[in-house]
Amino acid sequence: MTKYIFVTGGVLSGLGKGVVAASLGNLLKSHGHSVYIQKFDPYLNVDAGTLNPGEHGECFVTADGAETDLDLGHYERFLDVELNRDSSIMSGSIYQKVIENERNGVYLGKTVQVIPHITDEIKRRLFLAAQQSRAKVVITEIGGTIGDIESAHFIEAIRQVGHEKNSDAFFVHVGYLPYLPVSEELKTKPIQNSIIDLRERGIHPNLVFCRTDFPVKKRQLEKIAMFAGLKNEQVVALETVDSIYKVPRIMQRQGVDELVMKHLRLARSPSSDKSWARLIKLIDSQKEQKLRIGLVGKYMSMKDTYFSVIEALKAAAWTSPFALEIVFIDSEEIEKTGTRVLTTSSLDGICVPGGFGKRGIEGIILAIEWARKNKVPFLGLCLGLQLAVVEYARHELKLKDASSTEFGKSKEPVIDLMEDQVAKMISGSFGATMRLGNYDCHLKPGTLARNLYKKPVIQERHRHRYEFNNKFLPQFEADQNLRFSGVNPQLGLVEIVELNGHPFFIACQFHPEFKSRPNKPHPLFAGLVRASGAKK
Ligand code: GLN
Repeated sequence: MTKYIFVTGGVLSGLGKGVVAASLGNLLKSHGHSVYIQKFDPYLNVDAGTLNPGEHGECFVTADGAETDLDLGHYERFLDVELNRDSSIMSGSIYQKVIENERNGVYLGKTVQVIPHITDEIKRRLFLAAQQSRAKVVITEIGGTIGDIESAHFIEAIRQVGHEKNSDAFFVHVGYLPYLPVSEELKTKPIQNSIIDLRERGIHPNLVFCRTDFPVKKRQLEKIAMFAGLKNEQVVALETVDSIYKVPRIMQRQGVDELVMKHLRLARSPSSDKSWARLIKLIDSQKEQKLRIGLVGKYMSMKDTYFSVIEALKAAAWTSPFALEIVFIDSEEIEKTGTRVLTTSSLDGICVPGGFGKRGIEGIILAIEWARKNKVPFLGLCLGLQLAVVEYARHELKLKDASSTEFGKSKEPVIDLMEDQVAKMISGSFGATMRLGNYDCHLKPGTLARNLYKKPVIQERHRHRYEFNNKFLPQFEADQNLRFSGVNPQLGLVEIVELNGHPFFIACQFHPEFKSRPNKPHPLFAGLVRASGAKK
């Protein structure tokens, strides 16, 4: 019998509900239980692909090409699994399906309503994920905060599941304890009220996490338990920690895994995951030498846009002898004041992540030229590859007008939309031209890429519309300095470029950051860190 865990949030958003859900999954997995994890989001978007990265943060891409919320990244990293489209469901796709059904006469003669039609569709998606994953435990996070009109249909659906599944369902609520400096105390009222809100909607939480930035007194937790009609062990404090990867063990120390397994009648075998303990040791190890990697991008006011990139850099540094410092550099700043900011930041390496649109592009090109000429280690991701190609074409191949057609018309479109034929072979969610999810990449022998991956064929995740324009292949091949070391054989598209005679200059058309794990650094990021630290 599948067990269901639902995670809701209260008081305010941004409390780390995703980390809580992922940590619960991590703990249960460490006890030998198979876990599937998914998120229901209240937005009316059909998927996260069209959300603005500057407002909403990163769009995480799964192996099967779903464009999802960044919490999916937490899930994959904490559980070391590859999730799929069933893991990220937005209100838009629920409504779309119900309206489609209505048009197709599925509900003929009936009035179509939120309850039962929308709620039934939500439950169908939940049970489908359970059935297809065959996991023992399905964890479902509900986006937003309790009381939001927008997520009411999700709350009603999980209430029904709780009613139907009875003791095979477990409700977790995550709230916040604000600190009042005048009286120097943490206040419990907002979380009490959010539990009341939840109960008004028919859900009685089995476990309440109190997120806080300050130490909580036992009597405060007991007070919350008393008002909520819970036992003391059902209310647990989660203080903000320096690394999110410590959360599973903090929960474990407070008996959370025991509590969940007991309620769901899951076998309580001892936790066997040693690699996570090793990871925490690595995170906490004191290192003298600093490594400064510049992240040069265009969405610097919203660091969450680069969440997986940052985590991938950190993971690579944890297994290195260096303490990583990421220096965030706004490419528009470089456009205004030149590359001085790069020199004065004493960078050991730079990474150029993905991005869309014209703004800030010239600043990134200046940064890539700077890294290339000064032999500073460089890793380009997606847009990073496209701009490395543009920079090289302009300055070394003398194609002065070289650019990507994403930024306007160009006489030398070295980066362009794919030919119709190729585009047709790729199924995308928007305009049918986006290359999404896993694609093969063959690595040429004797290249840096092959050396880093240590295998001839890899699969990496994509999310882009533009590609290297093969019409310019002869010019690049004649030059022989910027090599195409990785190619997709089915579509004949460039996947990796690298530069000869440079300590480390490599860029990929895909997003390797999605496959990095905290305890398994990705070879490209590990390579960047190694090369950046080599001169130390
Ligand atoms: N904007 C570029 C494209 O659409 C790059 C996308 C990205 O960096 N993810 O191809």
